[in-house]
This record gives sequence, C-alpha cells and structure tokens, in this order.
Amino acid sequence: MKLELKNNPILADYQAHVKAFCTLNGWNKTSPTELFLLFMEEVGELAKAIRKEQNLFYEEAKKHKKFDLEEEFADVFGYLLDLANHFDIDLEKAYREKHAINEQRKWD
Ligand SMILES: [Mg+2]
Repeated sequence: MKLELKNNPILADYQAHVKAFCTLNGWNKTSPTELFLLFMEEVGELAKAIRKEQNLFYEEAKKHKKFDLEEEFADVFGYLLDLANHFDIDLEKAYREKHAINEQRKWD
C-alpha cells in the first residue's frame, strides 16, 4: 500500500502522514528512547552530508554515494515528525508559540 502525501501539505499533514506510515509498517510501537537514538543517527548522517557538500575533510567518504544532503534533511525531518507524534506535540503550534517567545527575547 502506498501512502501519498497530499498536495500543498501543512505541517499537521506531514505529521499525519508519518503516523500513518509508521503504523502501516508496525513502527508505531518504537520506544521514544529508540526513536531519539534513530533521530540522532540521522542528524549524524546529515552532518556527514553537509561535510561532503562543503568538502570538509571528507575524501574517503566522498567515494560513497550515501549521505545525500536532501535525503538526510528528509530523514531528520521524518524522525522529528515521528518523535513529535509520539509525544502528541503539534509541531506547528509549538513552533508558533516558541517563535512568539523568541520574538520578545533580547538577543545579545
Ligand atoms: Mg539517513
């Protein structure tokens, strides 16, 4: 079964899409600890992809096709959505509320 993400999705649509995909594949029982570790693993892969893109100390790993920048951003985004779902966090609401706080903050 293929799960399509609707056109012009809002953030809640992404969260619903990830939730449905994880449920479909039986990943909805993954513990938050494991999810967080997987998320951090993807952050590491994103770091590698950025190093590759920026040509930062990456001669050996450059031989590998893995660690594509777009794919790693997508992986990190997917796990962030999954983690937020686990804790029933509405990411758009959380972002808006935190942004309102940040706007009031004095940045030195
Ligand atoms: Mg990855």
